[in-house]
Amino acid sequence: MTSLSENFTFAEHTRTSQRYPEVPKPAEIAALTALCVNVLEPIRAHFHNPARINSGYRSHKANAAVGSSPRSQHRKGEASDIEIDGVSTAERAIWVRANLALDRAVLANHKKGKSNSGWVHVAYSAAVRRGGSTGINVVTTMTIGANGKPSYTAGIHA
Ligand SMILES: [Zn+2]
Repeated sequence: MTSLSENFTFAEHTRTSQRYPEVPKPAEIAALTALCVNVLEPIRAHFHNPARINSGYRSHKANAAVGSSPRSQHRKGEASDIEIDGVSTAERAIWVRANLALDRAVLANHKKGKSNSGWVHVAYSAAVRRGGSTGINVVTTMTIGANGKPSYTAGIHA
């Protein structure tokens, strides 16, 4: 099993693309590795919990199949959607915002009063890796409307 970092594997980051015969390019694998080392490993260590990756790298077809934007950072290997059993979704998002240098964190599809609802999307981009950005630029809460379309509000609303 190919590792991307000490505790994260290539397989768990490409699960959503496995139905499609498209593999990440070297630059995308490098982006995934940077995301694991700089974002996911610190999250795992802090919460003493093997964070689960619901979605990592997505091939073009896999990304289209989940209705995501072609510009999604999941396409570039720069984003993961994470779950941590026993830690509320909002608590994860708040800790990420306060403690990590990354360029996007989203509290996604979280329902008020349901602590484990939704997921946390974290993205670590080439700009951060080059030192062009030193911290979180965008922290948002994403809700999915009755029409199935996402909308974003600045900050974390739990
Ligand atoms: Zn995501």
